[in-house]
Amino acid sequence: AAMRETRTKKTKTVCTFCGVGCTFEVWTKGREILKIQPSDGPVNAVSTCVKGKFGWDFVNSEERLTKPLIRKNGQFVESSWEEALTLVAQRLGEIKSQYGKDSVGLISSSKITNEENYLIQKLARQVFETNNVDNCSRYCQSPATDGLMRTVGMGGDAGTIKDIAQAGLVIIVGANPAEGHPVLATRVKRAHKLHGQKLIVSDVRKNEMAERSDLFIRPKQGTDQVWLMAVTRYMIQQGWHDQGFIDENVKFFSEYKDILEKYTLEYAENITGISKETLIAIAEMIRDADGTCILWGMGVTQNNGGSDTSAAISNLLLATGNYRRPGAGAYPLRGHNNVQGACDMGTLPGWLPGYQHVEDDEARAKFEAAYGVPIDNKPGLDNINMLQSISEGKMKAMYLVGEDMALVDADSNHVDKVLSELDFFVVQDIFFSRTAQYADVILPAAPSLEKDGTFTNTERRVQRLYQALPNLGDSKPDWWIVQEIAKRLGADWGYQHPSEIFAEMASLSPIFAKANYETLEGWNSFLWGSHDGESTPLLYEDGFNFPDKKARFALSDWVEPYSFAEEFDLHINNGRMLEHFHEGNLTNKSKGIQAKVPEIFVEVSPELAEERGLEDGALVRLISPFGAVKLNALVTDRVQKNELFLPMNSVNKESAINFLTGPIYDSRTNTPAYKQTKVRMEVLSNK
Ligand code: SF4
Repeated sequence: AAMRETRTKKTKTVCTFCGVGCTFEVWTKGREILKIQPSDGPVNAVSTCVKGKFGWDFVNSEERLTKPLIRKNGQFVESSWEEALTLVAQRLGEIKSQYGKDSVGLISSSKITNEENYLIQKLARQVFETNNVDNCSRYCQSPATDGLMRTVGMGGDAGTIKDIAQAGLVIIVGANPAEGHPVLATRVKRAHKLHGQKLIVSDVRKNEMAERSDLFIRPKQGTDQVWLMAVTRYMIQQGWHDQGFIDENVKFFSEYKDILEKYTLEYAENITGISKETLIAIAEMIRDADGTCILWGMGVTQNNGGSDTSAAISNLLLATGNYRRPGAGAYPLRGHNNVQGACDMGTLPGWLPGYQHVEDDEARAKFEAAYGVPIDNKPGLDNINMLQSISEGKMKAMYLVGEDMALVDADSNHVDKVLSELDFFVVQDIFFSRTAQYADVILPAAPSLEKDGTFTNTERRVQRLYQALPNLGDSKPDWWIVQEIAKRLGADWGYQHPSEIFAEMASLSPIFAKANYETLEGWNSFLWGSHDGESTPLLYEDGFNFPDKKARFALSDWVEPYSFAEEFDLHINNGRMLEHFHEGNLTNKSKGIQAKVPEIFVEVSPELAEERGLEDGALVRLISPFGAVKLNALVTDRVQKNELFLPMNSVNKESAINFLTGPIYDSRTNTPAYKQTKVRMEVLSNK
């Protein structure tokens, strides 16, 4: 071993942070990471961003969990794997037999591999015989998936990241890719600068892409759907839509036109605050562009109309013939590196692996034969319903993997209370998360650098990662842990390597039929999409994903955002910072990143600062109907008027956004409407 530690090892890996899916060679010596070398990857070639380049030393953090922990008399005590796994299996098994199969819920992670996600849904469906399994896309991307499923029949990006660069016009709605998806943003920036690509940004906050855009609009919070529908209506009225494309490809056009009737330019101006002239300018830009791609993120999805706004985006693209070719189509921007994969693998209450619905008798029969148990033909509970079920005393146990629910879910004060009511709670993670304080057993998992597997990026690209480092202490890959729990509950799966798990998943999922570890070797990759199982860079070339191959206009009206009492007069937005990743659980533990980042702050507009007599750096308290936080203000014109912005990377009760957010949800998917939060502000002291 001593010999080995003196040698430099180079291992291909896939970035553990965002959904762009950059790949690199990681140079290691023992457990030391010497260098991250982008190489030949199909996504990023020689690029990386600050997180991908400097964000990895969390794997050697002293705070890593390295032993199973069991709560004994209120204290966490280190244990052997044998003791912890036996306890987990015994308690979960007892609860299932005592309270029934729906008394257990499983929550999977968008940070673990596809193979691990597959096993978690298999554990739910085969061992616990429940569809109560969900993943963190419930907090971000479920509305995008829903809007696409209803219109074009698949929940993934229409094409590849390279296709976006070919578009004549890119419209970014409610997303901040320069900070959230940096390498993808670089492609758009380059196309914009060098190839005449046009860029429209719609956001309440002036982010970096907005600064570069040809047209920047700031609709009132929660009103994107209105301008999207008004632009669609106007284009149809002017004859700028693509009637030929619609006739050949899309159903319910006349029904959609009826719904659009009220979305006049005047109505939209009134609701959104965007002038008629600007709306016409958007329509003209779409008309004149050789291909339009629309990219969107959580500024759209985390609203009570998140799904319907996603559908309105897809409707606009359908009406203007912007599908089925490169440089056009819908591109939801996936957050975590494997949020796409977690959904693809069926850690969703209504979907089996490969987007086969639990209500589909044929699909269910196939899984029933493979798993040897009946599968419920009704969707199970999602994350939000699970909390509800716990508070009603029905769900008694939860197995949560790689997700910090007590920080990430909305209304943290409520989540804290509910989690403490569980009879038995297993948390599996690489760090002691905020949620872990409520656990009965904590299982130490391994980060991506310590395991084999695959991740799937935002463009549906499956890529292989190889183990670069040995497991730290007694930590273990998630797939190993899940398999050991299953074994103790009577299911002896016997997988020796993730490749066998992938093969089983592919044999049950037509869209992955031709993918395997040989085809994914090295820098190769596979994009799911077509039912014959071939790699499919461009979706819908052979028609849309419905039996009749036709897309559908989704027939939904706009619903007004949640309304708050008048005293809550300031809207508070939240989002990512370039250097940090999401709630900051990984990047807060990376010294390379910590050195570059300022403290957490709330952004306040110059107008508001003046009105309230607040100086840059002042200490403020923000109070919502659901909680309060206290932190310093940063006066900046990135926000305007009564808009505040709070980065989401705090793990601290004093400043974390979810101590302000409330139980307001997207109507179709139960995704929390984080973006619809209002507060009042007290200035505690000026600097
Ligand atoms: Fe990683 Fe995303 Fe940065 Fe690429 S853009 S290096 S995937 S964080």
